[in-house]
Order: sequence, then structure tokens, then C-alpha cells
Amino acid sequence: MWSDTAIANRKWYIKYLFALSLPLLATIIKLNFYKVIGDDTPFVLYFGTVILVTGFGGVGPGILSAILTGLFADYYFLKPIDGFSLTADQGIHYFIYMTECFFLISLSGAVTRASRNLRKREVRFRAMIENSQDAIVVASKYGTILYASPAIQKVLGYSIEEFRNLSLESHFQTDEKDRLKSEFSHLTARPGDSITVVHQFLNKDENWVWIENTITNLVDYPGMKAFVFNFRNVTERILLERQKDDFVAVATHELKTPVTSIKAYAQILLAKLSKGNNPDNVKMLEKMNGQLNKLISLIGDMLDVTKIEGGRLQFQEENYPFSTMVKEVVEDLQHTTEDHDLLLEIDENPQIFGDKERMSQVISNLISNAIKYSPSSGNILVKIECHEKSVKLTVQDYGVGISEENQEKIFDRFYRVSGPENYTFPGIGLGLYISKEIVNRQFGKLWVESTKGEGSVFCVELPYDHRRAPKLNNR
Ligand code: ADP
Repeated sequence: MWSDTAIANRKWYIKYLFALSLPLLATIIKLNFYKVIGDDTPFVLYFGTVILVTGFGGVGPGILSAILTGLFADYYFLKPIDGFSLTADQGIHYFIYMTECFFLISLSGAVTRASRNLRKREVRFRAMIENSQDAIVVASKYGTILYASPAIQKVLGYSIEEFRNLSLESHFQTDEKDRLKSEFSHLTARPGDSITVVHQFLNKDENWVWIENTITNLVDYPGMKAFVFNFRNVTERILLERQKDDFVAVATHELKTPVTSIKAYAQILLAKLSKGNNPDNVKMLEKMNGQLNKLISLIGDMLDVTKIEGGRLQFQEENYPFSTMVKEVVEDLQHTTEDHDLLLEIDENPQIFGDKERMSQVISNLISNAIKYSPSSGNILVKIECHEKSVKLTVQDYGVGISEENQEKIFDRFYRVSGPENYTFPGIGLGLYISKEIVNRQFGKLWVESTKGEGSVFCVELPYDHRRAPKLNNR
């Protein structure tokens, strides 16, 4: 009734006929109940009449009905009854009534405008959502689908109706269900937050397709109270990434053998030349050896990443003395720098059940980073604290630091902080990704606390024996 398109679609004579007949009808009703409501409330019912006429026909018919009802009130209900007259008292009544009517008419105009804007916005948002290439599904926290966009057909092959009636459980891969459930249950605890998960889904043609799904928790959002799933088919991208990963895996594997044998020859040569009296040759060979070490570590990182991606990262677990292992790493790395002092602060030497080699790889990576990212030298503090069920190791430097927005991202694959000062540091952004994966797989936690320009503290917390302790990470 209040929408401007509905008003515009009505014929003008119908609107004015309504503006004439409704005041008449109201007057007939009022005359019939005259004894009850007559004198004291001459304008009751007429306000409602004006509002209804304006809502039905717009401003023009609204004004007409206000004038008519004013005249009817004067004729039938303002004393002297049954005749037109305009005493001072009536004039004031009449003036106040008309003012109030105009106020109501302009208010109803505002309602119409608001409804027009609302409709425009709704049309715009609906067009955006219904034409989006991403499928959008809104579901209540009980799993009822409240809305599904037409793009479902493009992404999964199902019509909206078919999708609503699917038993979703059987459309997910069994080995992915636990991971997805756990990620989703974390999201349910964080209203307003969103996560992006990549998973497989059985489409209408009975093929497994890869879906990238961004889920937003709007359960606390007024008027929404639901989860929004925004998903797209990324099968092509995933297959290409797989091909690329396979290529990198084969290439790095093939590189490893010749490089290892070059390194062996270089060491034999170094041993031979060290006995001679040509210090220049020894120096050159030492430099070559240093570069080979870098190359081998790079190949090692690339191989680790391909193992992580392929789910093939193996762990050899045993009991080992944690602080002894850390001490060995610190001593080894002290030889690589003359500008930094590696200070070790140890409480005790707890036994840890886990993969010693992999943990020493993590600690070596954290200390090498501390050295690399504090170019103007200084102390690097490595500290071990024993807690009730876990050991905590911190590596503190006073170097370039990491801004808050980058502190989560640096653990992503290939992520390097960009900015003019960072281009001077060599690296490919794999060390922390591998370290985090190792620590997670050992049921521990790895995180950073840092202030840009002041330095960073990388922390590792590990259970003494993950077989008996609760997991520290979120996996
Ligand atoms: P890489 O050092 O090869 O770039 P990493 O995965 O080890 O890769 O580190 C990722 C990024 O995190 C680095 O590029 C750097 O920007 C940042 N970073 C890591 N350690 C530190 C540190 N101790 N101080 C400041 N920035 C660091």
C-alpha cells in the first residue's frame, strides 16, 4: 500500500474516488455513533481516514481528504451542529486539525520514500547475489538452509530445490569430515569471524570437485542469525597446483643427488688443499662449500614442503634430552656469525618424546632467522622454561621486528614480509611454514610476539610426551 510503485500504478480517478468515498464512509460511521463519540472528539476517525487515503493515493488525494473531513467535521460535529460556521473557537480547531493532517501527509510521504529506497536497495543486493559467480548459501545454526543462490547450479550442478533436499553428509570425503567439522566448530565460537576452507564435494554428475568455501559466522548479527557459505569451484586451479607441486617434487629430488655428490667432492678437495700451501684456493673452496650448504638447505626445504603437501612428512619419535639438543644447535650456529652473541638460558634438561632431528631443524630455523633479521648485530637470547606438562623455548632478537598484521601471515607458505628493507634479506619464505607444521605435528604450538623496529620473540611450546598430554595446538 505504501510503496510508491503501487501508488503510481493506480489510476488517478480511483485514487480520488477513494479520497471522496472514505471521508463519506467515516462520516456515516461517525453519525451512527454520534451519541457515543460525537462532541468531544470531532476529528477522531478522520485522522485515520487521511492516513489511509494518503497511503492509497499519495499526497494529492491525501490533501483532498483532509479538506473534506475538515468540512464534514465543521458541518456535523463542531457546535453549532448541522451548519457551516467559523467562530474563533472553530477556526482554531479547524486550523490545528489541518496542520496535523499536513504533518501526517508529509510523514506518510517520508514512509513512502523510505520504502522506495529500501526496495531499490533490496533489488540491487538481490541482483548482486543472484548474479554472483560464487554460490551463496545461508543456513541457520541448526543446519536449515534459509537461502541458496542460483549459482549453485553452475558450481555443483544441482538446482536450488535439489540442493535443499540433499543429504549433505554423503557428499563430503570421509577423510576430510573430521578436519572440516573441527574448523567449523572453531568458527561457531567466534561470531563475526570467517574462515576459508578447501574441500571436495560430490557434484550432480557424481564427480568429486574441489570447492573453496568461505564461511562467515553471522549468528549474532541482528536480522541475520545464520552462517553464510560463499563457495566456488576451484578444481582446475587445484589440479594445476598439483601438477606444479609434482614437478617441484621431482625436480628437487633430482637436484639433491648431484648436489650432494658435489658437496662430497668439495669436502675431499678441501681436506687435500688444506694440507698444501695455497691459502687462496682453500678460501675459495670454503666459500664454495658455504654456498653448497645454502643450496642443500634450500633443496631440503623444498623437499619438506612437497612432503607436507603430499602428507608424507615422517617422524622418528624417541625420548631425547631437549636442552642438550638446543645447546648443540646454538653452538653450531654461533660458528656462522661473528656479529651476534647467542646467549643460552636453561632451567633444566627435560626429556621430550618426539622427533629430535625435526625439532632441531625448527630451532635452527628460528635462530638463523633471528641472526638474519637483526642485521645490526646484538644479542640473541635462547631460553628454555619447564612448565608442568610442557617445555617452552623462546628465541628473542632485537632486530627489525614484525608488524602486527604480518605476525600470522609469516607462517604461510612462501610468505615474506614485503617492504624496501626486506629485499636485502635472502630467503624464500618456507622456513616458518615448515617449522609450524613440524611443531603442530608434534602437538605443540609455535607463535611470535613482536614489535616492528624493536625485535621479535619466537616461542615454541611442546608437551613432554604428547601421548599422555592434551594437544597444545588447535588441530
Ligand atoms: P625466509 O626467512 O626464507 O624468508 P621464513 O619462513 O623463515 O622465510 O620467514 C618468513 C618471513 O618472516 C621472513 O621473510 C621475514 O619477513 C619474517 N621473519 C621471520 N623471522 C623473523 C625475525 N626473527 N625477525 C623479523 N622478521 C622475521
